[in-house]
Amino acid sequence: MITGILLCAGGASRMGFDKLTTPLAGRNAIERSRDLLIAGGCERLVLVTSEAHEAYLRALPCSVPALVTRGGDTRTQSVFRGLHAAAGASIVVIHDAARCFTPASCVKASIESARQCGSGVLAVPVVDTVVRANGDAYETLDRSNLYRTQTPQSFRYDEILTAYEQADGAATDDAALYRQVIGTPHLVPGSELARKLTTAEDWAWAKELCMTYPKIGTGFDTHRLTEGRKLILGGVEIPFEKGLLGHSDADVLIHAIIDAVLGAAALGDIGKLFPDSDEAYRGIDSRVLLRRTVELVQKRDMRIASIDATILCQRPKLRPYIDTMRQNIAEDCGLALENVSVKATTTEGMNDEGKGLCISAQAVATVVGMA
Ligand code: MG
Repeated sequence: MITGILLCAGGASRMGFDKLTTPLAGRNAIERSRDLLIAGGCERLVLVTSEAHEAYLRALPCSVPALVTRGGDTRTQSVFRGLHAAAGASIVVIHDAARCFTPASCVKASIESARQCGSGVLAVPVVDTVVRANGDAYETLDRSNLYRTQTPQSFRYDEILTAYEQADGAATDDAALYRQVIGTPHLVPGSELARKLTTAEDWAWAKELCMTYPKIGTGFDTHRLTEGRKLILGGVEIPFEKGLLGHSDADVLIHAIIDAVLGAAALGDIGKLFPDSDEAYRGIDSRVLLRRTVELVQKRDMRIASIDATILCQRPKLRPYIDTMRQNIAEDCGLALENVSVKATTTEGMNDEGKGLCISAQAVATVVGMA
């Protein structure tokens, strides 16, 4: 049985928060590592835990059988305990939970190498120039035969167990102990995505990586056209004999955009955040509400990536004002102009917009981020 040994014993101290259980775009590092081991071919998991994560791991859903075992004081001790818990395995796939973006294809290659050669250790060639510097001593090393090892590292179970039983001292990876007792480990191509989340910079990298998965929200709003009101669309006051009726300035375009942004971020809707029963919002400039919405999204570690909107309006002609609307929205959302689109259409005299009873707007927003 191919058994993944997932090391979740690392402390949270270095980053000041628990890097293993903090969500990254919906799944934390432990969940991501669990999923990539299973996708790569593991038929059973052994979760090696610290006291802090034990209750969490025991409750963690898993689509293959999973055992939880307590780790030791060092990585070497933790793996040794994991190996004991993995009794009956044919191949073990030892993996650091903090390398949670490792592609499943690398896991597969590691397992296949262990099957054929006894071992499969992820490694990437060193591309930077490597120097040994110590006081005045300075030496450039030949990088052509230098590699950085990563995890997973897969082995035939009996051999890696023997290595751990017989090797002297601790090591920072399993390949070093295998080398001491069994033989030269077989390297398989690793990936820069297998980066270990250790420092604040690693965490920032992970967040950027997660930002590539956008969430999409839609918004729609409509306001009645009436005499004695200003017509404000996208923050632009447009000369017209009527304006839109509403508690705020009734900027229907901004309202649809606010709802699209809130929708993408799953933060409710405009009525919930800025209720029209609240006197504080009487006559308020809707751009103020949009900027508050943007702040709210940013506080949740998300940011808006793009906005597209359509105004449904028979009269007046909006084309001369569209670019100013885009500029206002781009400014409020902290976006480049090319990421903000505003369009306008008539409804050819049909519907309430076409009859001049109202103006409506619909919007789509994409939001990227961590939640
Ligand atoms: Mg409205």
